[in-house]
Amino acid sequence: MLIDNYNMVRSNIDAAAKRAGRNPEEITLIAVSKTKPLEDIEELREAGVREFGENKPQELKTKYDNISAPVNFHQIGHLQTNKVKYVIDRAVLIHSLDSIKLAEEIEKEAVKHDKIADVLVEVNYADEESKFGITKDQALPFIREVAANFPHIRIKGLMTIAPFVDNPEDNRYIFKGMKQLLLDIISENIDNTDMSVLSMGMTNDYEVAVEEGATMVRVGTAIFGERNYSI
Ligand SMILES: *Cc1c(COP(=O)(O)O)cnc(C)c1O
Repeated sequence: MLIDNYNMVRSNIDAAAKRAGRNPEEITLIAVSKTKPLEDIEELREAGVREFGENKPQELKTKYDNISAPVNFHQIGHLQTNKVKYVIDRAVLIHSLDSIKLAEEIEKEAVKHDKIADVLVEVNYADEESKFGITKDQALPFIREVAANFPHIRIKGLMTIAPFVDNPEDNRYIFKGMKQLLLDIISENIDNTDMSVLSMGMTNDYEVAVEEGATMVRVGTAIFGERNYSI
């Protein structure tokens, strides 16, 4: 059953937290249900799971609109400006703010829906060409600009997608660097921000991410099994 996989991941997180002298309760496990059917989400929901991650805005919308009782959906994947309307009122947190253009659109939709949108800034820490995100050097000026110009956006922290590596230890410097970046930005005391979230770690490397300070991990494959993109 899916809940057994979920519980296994959860106990690995708790063990990693303890190794690092952290309180396991600081860490939220987001079950990444992208491409998986609503029944899988319902199964976990009935077992008490409440946090789910989707990377396609329309898929998030469809699942949100059809689930039989509310859960929290996170928009974890790249968000195009013309798709903000699907998630503005449905996602508890947008993990992937990566441009001023997107911030403008989120601001506009947030005003329309009379809400404050909680977001994370996506950082492309390893400067991979294939990935979205702000460079680590641009993170601070970017956050200053968003905080100063978009009163309906609240920046809650940072997110990164680390490279796919065989050995998760190879990503440790990234998670360490992200934690330091978060601390550096917190120390700037920027108005209109509430930086505390560090969203990092996936099936292959979440334990290392937790050891280095992740407060949200996004795990799909280890809970739901391999994804099939061909159907
Ligand atoms: C798919 C995805 C995940 C989960 O990946 P797994 O390797 O299956 O755990 C996490 N974060 C983002 C942004 C994703 O798109």
